[in-house]
Amino acid sequence: MGARLGQYSLLFAALQNGAKRVPMSDAVLILGDQLSLSLSSLEAAGPDAEIFIAEVADEASYVGHHKQKIILVFSAMRHFAEKLMAQGRTVHYLAYGEKPALTGMGDVLDHIAGKTAPEKIFVTAPGEYRLDKILRGWVAPAGTSLVITPDTRFIATPEAFATWAEGRKQLRMEYFYRDLRRQTDILMQDGEPLGGQWNYDADNRKKLPANHNVPKRARRQPDSTTKTVIELVAARFSNHFGTIENFAWPVTHEEAEADFQYFLDNCLLHFGDYQDAMKSGEVFVYHSLVGASLNLGLLDPLEVCRAAEARLHTNQAPINAVEGFIRQILGWREFIRGVYWLKMPDYAQTNYFEADRALPDFYYTGETQMACLHGAIEATREHAYAHHIQRLMITGNFALLAGIAPEAVNKWYLEVYADAYEWVQLPNTHGMALFADGGVVGSKPYAASGAYVNRMSDYCRSCAYKVKEPTGDTACPFNYLYWDFMTRHRDKLGGNPRMGMVYRTYDKMDDDRRAAIADSAAKFLENL
Ligand code: FAD
Ligand code: SF4
Repeated sequence: MGARLGQYSLLFAALQNGAKRVPMSDAVLILGDQLSLSLSSLEAAGPDAEIFIAEVADEASYVGHHKQKIILVFSAMRHFAEKLMAQGRTVHYLAYGEKPALTGMGDVLDHIAGKTAPEKIFVTAPGEYRLDKILRGWVAPAGTSLVITPDTRFIATPEAFATWAEGRKQLRMEYFYRDLRRQTDILMQDGEPLGGQWNYDADNRKKLPANHNVPKRARRQPDSTTKTVIELVAARFSNHFGTIENFAWPVTHEEAEADFQYFLDNCLLHFGDYQDAMKSGEVFVYHSLVGASLNLGLLDPLEVCRAAEARLHTNQAPINAVEGFIRQILGWREFIRGVYWLKMPDYAQTNYFEADRALPDFYYTGETQMACLHGAIEATREHAYAHHIQRLMITGNFALLAGIAPEAVNKWYLEVYADAYEWVQLPNTHGMALFADGGVVGSKPYAASGAYVNRMSDYCRSCAYKVKEPTGDTACPFNYLYWDFMTRHRDKLGGNPRMGMVYRTYDKMDDDRRAAIADSAAKFLENL
């Protein structure tokens, strides 16, 4: 691949030097997370259009992405370029650092327009508002125009979501999900939900039994393309978060499909039962790990949902597992994207609780005595992964209760996961985990004390803190931070009907207990 990439670069360089301006057909610019053959820009431009793929410096470093994320994206881009060329397409590939002057996406567009003079440059709409603004703000030279085609790799369009949202007092995932179930006829029978229930969430909350072995994930040896990228990232991104050693993410459609089949064969059966479970040393439990591939375009969400549904029809997986899995993709993934495009750009600026504390260093170092936080952050460092409950109820819950500034928390989440792209990261972090949007994504904050972590994991057994102690130096910090958070924000949460029980419990506490909570929280936060 290295040699082949060299060839693309030479072609690119020749065009750049302008030795001879050959009249060109239309061009297609494919962005790093648009690695799908079904891309609307490819379709719109036709088979003769020349394709440009660029490893853009600004995109690799506008936040300090996890090293594994950069390896994943660059390697998958290079493999995709190979695939397109194998199909007879002309691909101009610009590898990272080859043209230091081309630092941003606007530079790349200038380059394509200036050197190859296409009448039209087609690009599929980017996933992020930031990049959309850059593309729309680009001034095309005379004779060239930029055509932005819709991203059709989702089940619902942003326009359909906006229509659904119009006039609703609250946007709730469950109702959007039901609509999409009806539209796609997934898990439906005669217009009704298969099995009689829309949602089996209540059957998705078991703790892993003590000596239960979860399936091992195969380790994939990096091929020569990935090895080249690993060397590049080790040399050029050494200051970014995370380790490289465990890199095992699929970088081609075939690898992504093989990993997904492994999930269907070995993990789907128990996905539903143990969806929320956490265990020390078990990073992946029964989760699918498809997020990184879906978000890059290596897997198609509808196909993934239908493949899972087929396992129900062949009695290879129960309904709580299949519905639970499909709800994540057909429901949450689509809903979250809809919220992002409906609410941006103001959404990112909201800060409902006016949280302003700095992000503690241990989010990057993992150095904390709190075993659950240590476990979730170490998994993140070593694999660019933590599963949903670790993201929401451990690192997210802590940031919420401690009042960490949303901007800093959002930046961390965008940096550290292999599947992180702003369209999906932001509503999850800002809305679901931090409730900084004041209730757009969720109807109440996902705040929890240590009891929740203890119920869903074995972390508390090996923790320096005591989960059963409510206050004091050795008490689990989640316990007093939880009540301190509730008291701090009573004005905003007290009227929420879903929080009534919490405040009734608080009101029954005696003054000494309340004072001890306030003392413990103040001391802890001061030393954070
Ligand atoms: P599984 O648990 O096996 O679920 C299957 C798929 O369902 C996922 O791959 C994903 O595509 C989809 N899904 C599940 N939950 C969600 C959700 N809440 N929103 C959108 N899609 C969902 N997901 C990302 O793809 N990128 C992110 O940057 C991201 N950041 C998150 C930040 C926070 C604070 C939280 C609480 C969640 C975040 N999620 C994000 C959602 C979810 O945690 C991940 O999609 C999931 O953990 C990825 O692992 P998996 O592929 O094994 O998913
Ligand atoms: Fe986490 Fe508290 Fe349990 Fe320690 S005791 S692992 S801090 S929930």
